[in-house]
Amino acid sequence: MTTAEFFEHTAPVADEIVDEIVSDETEVPVDEASALGPARHIDMTVIAQDPTVKDEKGRILRAKVRVAADRFLPPLQTHRFHVVSFDPEKGAPGPELKLVDDTGRFRDRFAGSSDRVLLRQHDFHAQNVLAIASRTLSAFEAALGRRVPWDFESHQLYLVPHGEVRANAYYSSAKRALIFGYAENKDGDKIYSCLSHDVIAHETTHALLAGLRPGYFTPGLPDQGGFHEGFADVVALLSVFAVPALVEQALGAIDRRGVVTRRDVTRAKLRRSVLLQLAEQFGEVVHGRRGRPLRESLEMKPGGWWRTNPRFRQVHNRGEVLVAAVGNALLDMWLGRLDELLKTGSASRRLAAEEGAKAAEHLLTMVIRAIDYCPPLEFEYEDFLDAIIWSDEQLSPDDDHGYRKSVRDAFAVYDIGRPPQQIVEVSKLPVRPNYERFNFAAMRSDRDEVFRFVWENDELLGISLQFQTGVESIRPSIRVGPDGFVVQETVVTYVQQLDATVAELAELSQDPDHRYRGSSDVLEVPAGFDQELRLGIYGGGAIIFDQFGRPKLHQHKPLLDWKRQSARLAFLAEKTEPSATGSIGTQRYARGEPFAALHRPDPFQDERW
Ligand SMILES: [Zn+2]
Repeated sequence: MTTAEFFEHTAPVADEIVDEIVSDETEVPVDEASALGPARHIDMTVIAQDPTVKDEKGRILRAKVRVAADRFLPPLQTHRFHVVSFDPEKGAPGPELKLVDDTGRFRDRFAGSSDRVLLRQHDFHAQNVLAIASRTLSAFEAALGRRVPWDFESHQLYLVPHGEVRANAYYSSAKRALIFGYAENKDGDKIYSCLSHDVIAHETTHALLAGLRPGYFTPGLPDQGGFHEGFADVVALLSVFAVPALVEQALGAIDRRGVVTRRDVTRAKLRRSVLLQLAEQFGEVVHGRRGRPLRESLEMKPGGWWRTNPRFRQVHNRGEVLVAAVGNALLDMWLGRLDELLKTGSASRRLAAEEGAKAAEHLLTMVIRAIDYCPPLEFEYEDFLDAIIWSDEQLSPDDDHGYRKSVRDAFAVYDIGRPPQQIVEVSKLPVRPNYERFNFAAMRSDRDEVFRFVWENDELLGISLQFQTGVESIRPSIRVGPDGFVVQETVVTYVQQLDATVAELAELSQDPDHRYRGSSDVLEVPAGFDQELRLGIYGGGAIIFDQFGRPKLHQHKPLLDWKRQSARLAFLAEKTEPSATGSIGTQRYARGEPFAALHRPDPFQDERW
């Protein structure tokens, strides 16, 4: 699809749009070769959080972020992104972007630009979106040790900084695009969602998670829907927190002299002055419209009360639990690092902020890496915690800084623990896998070869092959641990499915041979539920193979775990109209724009700005 097709318009660029003169052009060469080879990164100027966050002089706080070096094609394309200039008011292409010269060099012209230029210059808006989306993609690729695909058949994701006149931003799989909207506030100023760091990181995460775990769009347990929103918020929070300038600015409220002492950095103070202050600014554009800024997520009351609270059966609210847990883990990790730094009594505010940014970056890597160890569907929050711990243990067995404890403790506050035996250590089972007729080399790329392994080892893996089973993905991963050694893995996901009437499934569950490993659970059907409705049930898992092709770990969601299937049916029943006919539990969201629906502002809600 070309840019022109994207818009279904062929109108020429409107020539009455005059490009603003910008100040202080700083050229950043991409191809500057050194003894170490070509540069791997270039710096790009971005708005650190959003235009409401100002520095001490009252100017918009800026930051330089590192973006993976790439070959740039004009007007603004890399091999994974294509920034599109569009004018939604005219429904035609917008002003031509001038960020890349004829020789393919990207030019950051905004290092010294005025606030007015940043707010009004379309070139800067394009740069801001590209820089933060690229940075988010790089965080995923570095954590997972491989290239990360989108969930559509193209290598490039369209970024549309001015996609619509509406206070919204969303990921559209059908358009293969992140669409950013803008709207006027009551003073008549345009507020652009493409200038909010957290919104860009949040939407890019939706696009990445959709590619990594397509099964999460299948109607599942309540945590599964909440995870897309919660995880996107978590990545946004940690991504913003990993910008030292922002943390330093927030720390300024603690001590204006620029020195931090032990007394200044208690948990309560950091929480109130830094974490909550940063979160307050989040989602002005998107989240604010749903009436609950991220700050409120971080202030969730401890305990497991949310599981039975009707408000937390909604996906957006459900995601808050994850944000609350990860926010607490971040504080804990930062405090641990500050403890080291402040051994001598005090340190500069800048160093204290850098420790916060490093903690955020580390935690961001941990939570992204965990995605490979999460099940392909039937996701629950316990799986995420378990996946964080397991994946971190593979890479850094020692945990010198106690990060895993910080994460476990933070999730425990919300009554989320590690499920016993959810991830099976295949390499420690008494029975050895059968490798007969098995080709290790093919296993790294061939789904049929992996299926053969599953076929030969169904008992070991606890999979019933009498139900529809398919290998969904094979993803090799190469990462470097803190000791400098390479950890090589291949992550395989498979999915099982069964469609039948609720009555047939309930009957099936009565047969002990059709229950997972001797369980006594049966399918519980909610009272009064129409048993003639057809229900799609799912199981599946992720198998982690080591560099020799031996299975190490198996994250398993058994198809015939009737306790879990009962919980899912109860949740689906809440959403099913009494008059429903046909099938439930199998339809995906209307292909294309699940997130537009999630983020669409409520038209009946009062305008916030
Ligand atoms: Zn979202």
